[in-house]
Amino acid sequence: MKIFFYSARPYDKTHFTAANAQRGHTLEFFEGRLTSTTAALARGFDGICTFVNDAIDADIIARLVAGGTRLIALRCAGFNQVDLVATTAAGMTVVRVPAYSPYAVAEHTIGLILTLNRKFHRAYARVRDNNFLLDGLEGFDLHGKTIGVIGTGRIGSVFAKIMLGFGCDVLAFDTAPPNAELISAGVQYVKLERVLGAADIVTLHCPLTPATHYLINAHTLSLMKPGAMLINTSRGGLLDTSAVIDALKSRRLGALGLDVYEQEGDLFFADLSDRIVGDDIFQRLLTFPNVIITGHQAFFTQEALCAIAETTLGNIDAIAAGRDCDNAVTLSLVCSK
Ligand code: NAD
Repeated sequence: MKIFFYSARPYDKTHFTAANAQRGHTLEFFEGRLTSTTAALARGFDGICTFVNDAIDADIIARLVAGGTRLIALRCAGFNQVDLVATTAAGMTVVRVPAYSPYAVAEHTIGLILTLNRKFHRAYARVRDNNFLLDGLEGFDLHGKTIGVIGTGRIGSVFAKIMLGFGCDVLAFDTAPPNAELISAGVQYVKLERVLGAADIVTLHCPLTPATHYLINAHTLSLMKPGAMLINTSRGGLLDTSAVIDALKSRRLGALGLDVYEQEGDLFFADLSDRIVGDDIFQRLLTFPNVIITGHQAFFTQEALCAIAETTLGNIDAIAAGRDCDNAVTLSLVCSK
């Protein structure tokens, strides 16, 4: 198949080229985003391959179909960026990579927690400046603390097990039936309100759906333990960021770690260091000493990149051979979330 890649970084090219060596698909890599203008570049290609911030709306779908493109291969797990009503109406096939390395995201979540707690970012800068004072670097033992996990799917369950290893009490909330393995390991499933009220650290591992949009808002923040830490490595739209800023200002929220941001499509995966960034909400977040933000890098490990390339090309193989693809994204998948 001929596949046109959008938002392709050099590491994408490396991993996909290696995974394609024995396959023989024609892969064309383009660094720019998929937009209504760049959609025309895919003319004549069987499919496109896109990443998390390539928003695929009805207009873009119409342009792709006009150019003969019938396949959208998402090289990510989330599919909230795709208008599935429009792809279904247009008869397009959408496939994704439901799992690649839950360890990558779970371990990055731990990194954010440890950095916020033990202030590695400040310690690093201080020591390089020959400032060996400890004032302001005080943290707390994770051992014995209560961790709230919202969403115990692939990533949330790996994360929960790691926290049990730290000696934490783990409370979980999931709309799906509880995970028996986690329960026998010591995780306690409770109502969302109990997770929010009891946890010293709350971390989000559920997908962004209409039901989870702004799951963390002024009301749910008011239910959280005063001074608690909040971590979001899932999707930016799970947080009402303005409400989170108010909670940081009032000190209700003790610390915030983000790998995702609702408007990240305008910022992440680009070097804006010599530009004026106009997003005042994002810029306000950067002013807090108790906020750490990474630019959607939780997935970014060698293992995850290899698995993403293998699964994506495996999906394309299946579609090329006319086989059913287990990783197809359909409207029923959204409704079941
Ligand atoms: P998953 O589908 O295995 O698990 C998601 C869990 O959330 C499921 O158990 C589901 O029942 C639960 N859930 C759904 N709605 C819920 C709700 N309203 N309240 C509580 N739980 C709910 O997904 P996963 O592989 O663990 O990934 C989780 C999320 O992590 C993805 O949706 C994606 O947005 C995000 N993600 C981020 C990165 C990154 O680099 N930052 C990488 C991969 C995935």
